[in-house]
Amino acid sequence: MPRALYLHVPFCPSICPYCDFHKMKRQEGLVAAYLRRLKQEAAASYEAFPGPLDTIYFGGGTPSHLTDAELAAIVAIFTRTWGWPGRLETTLEADPLTFDAARLKTLKALGFSRLSIGVQSSQEAVLRFLGRQHSGREGLEAVFMALAAGFAVSADLITAVPGQDVLRDLRALAQTGVPHLSVYSLTIEPYTPFALRGIRVDPDQDADAYLLVQEILPEYGLRRYEVSNHARPGCESRHNQVYWHGEFFLGLGPSAASFLPRCLGGGVGERRINPPIKGWLRGDLPEIVAVGGRRYLEDVLMTGLRTRRGVDLAALSAKSGLEVEVLLQDWLARYSQLGWLTRQGPVLQATPAGLIRLNRLVQELLA
Ligand code: SF4
Repeated sequence: MPRALYLHVPFCPSICPYCDFHKMKRQEGLVAAYLRRLKQEAAASYEAFPGPLDTIYFGGGTPSHLTDAELAAIVAIFTRTWGWPGRLETTLEADPLTFDAARLKTLKALGFSRLSIGVQSSQEAVLRFLGRQHSGREGLEAVFMALAAGFAVSADLITAVPGQDVLRDLRALAQTGVPHLSVYSLTIEPYTPFALRGIRVDPDQDADAYLLVQEILPEYGLRRYEVSNHARPGCESRHNQVYWHGEFFLGLGPSAASFLPRCLGGGVGERRINPPIKGWLRGDLPEIVAVGGRRYLEDVLMTGLRTRRGVDLAALSAKSGLEVEVLLQDWLARYSQLGWLTRQGPVLQATPAGLIRLNRLVQELLA
């Protein structure tokens, strides 16, 4: 049964030119319609999967762009269903311009325990290039404020932006004392304004940033526990680990994905992907893809090898119903010999050399 819930809140104050998430600006009546539909969707999901829930994650979009009353309406929906807040962690993704010290008190009172703040950079030119509305100072102050208010705080940083001084950004963010930092390379997704403008990411700049992250963040006690995620011990995101380690989760809201036990038919489970907002508001059904043993194995290796925890092959065999050690024999031998994979009992991990070649590792596996 799923013990984690993701809620997609697609509304943003402005639209960033690199973004390919399902997002939109607020419009008259749209948020009210969203809340009405969410109430129905939550009731139906709760009936099928009553929990309890360990983690609840509001992502987007910009969930903190909702008003206090709108967030309270969602809290009421969850209070009537699975219970609120999540038993271990309740996260809100937040834009630095959407809160001040007074609002943080309200968010705390509503039951959020963790804020994931989209700082992205501390440099004005980089923020302008990315189309962000806040200044470098406002981004860093948002982190300080959230820490002072007692939240578990995570900050997002984007690297490989043309003209960016990554070292300066890493130090500026780490020096706030933030206990969790997610670092993503700028990627140019098809059909985004950046793609249409022909903007490219310099692979050398990207590789340099990757190495710099590895070198600098440990100085501040921030340990990499997934390729893009770094935390002080004990401050790792519990919710995201559910995705990386192949556990079930519920997704609510437009375009949200779920991974759920299969009601009918065999296999490990099924992915359900909600339609975008128009169809979702109409109540259109999600797209359902069965996940058999082989597909599950590939998915878990793909995401689990990105983590420090690695992949427990014995557990993977039990869940996928496959003889994983036999199936992967050649692949394991080849890449262990090359020093890209390492074993500790049943647990398989990518070495630092394997981590930077993860795509190739996984492609070989799929082939
Ligand atoms: S705030 Fe986030 S979700 Fe919204 S447009 Fe920018 S990157 Fe996309």
